[in-house]
Amino acid sequence: MPARILIVEDEQPLTLLLRYNLEAEGYEVEAVARGDEAEVRLRESLPDLLVLDWMLPGLSGIELCRRLRARAETEHLPIIMLTARGEESERLRGLATGADDYIVKPFSVPELVARVRAVLRRARPERVAATLKAGDIELDRERHRVFRAGREIPIGPTEFRLLEFFMQSPGRVFSREQLLDGVWGRDVYIDERTVDVHVGRLRKLINRGSEVDPIRTVRGAGYAFDERFGKTAEPARKVGG
Ligand code: CA
Repeated sequence: MPARILIVEDEQPLTLLLRYNLEAEGYEVEAVARGDEAEVRLRESLPDLLVLDWMLPGLSGIELCRRLRARAETEHLPIIMLTARGEESERLRGLATGADDYIVKPFSVPELVARVRAVLRRARPERVAATLKAGDIELDRERHRVFRAGREIPIGPTEFRLLEFFMQSPGRVFSREQLLDGVWGRDVYIDERTVDVHVGRLRKLINRGSEVDPIRTVRGAGYAFDERFGKTAEPARKVGG
């Protein structure tokens, strides 16, 4: 199950950018633009992490953070605060209020994504494993490298994201449309057949010789990463003899 992130930010373009990039990392993302709206939302359901802007209409991020820390249910909710540039004293106040981390605007998206991963790893280690493993396939998220049976697979960025997306949810069948949304992003127009092309390329990359294909084609539905992959014993080959 992917980690859920709530973004509270009133700058719409920034929200879109963050949503796009966090979703590309495999997170489930929700966004609201007002502090008071966020407070209501957080009483209904809790995300795994909150990206919280400092200045918000309705209720400021700093006040919301303070209130969340005062409630038992949200006392330990991971919070990354977004603050305006150069406000050193504000930053300190942000941490004093109980944010786990803060990041100063303008920031680079990869930096925020890295911070999100770091905070989640501390707070929810099971949700953001640095390495995904299934059978003899290993995907290193930080170094963007993939190995099968110990050999490194030269993989491009799209096939990497595709494999990562599959490996995050073994057994789940994704339609071509869901794969487009999850791997390429919602705002990109690409023909659904492109998905087939990339799944084909991914298969060629990861399966060599008689190796078992971990990706299942589900007729009329889409594709899935076989949850039994690597779990049913393959006949062991004896060395020597
Ligand atoms: Ca703001």
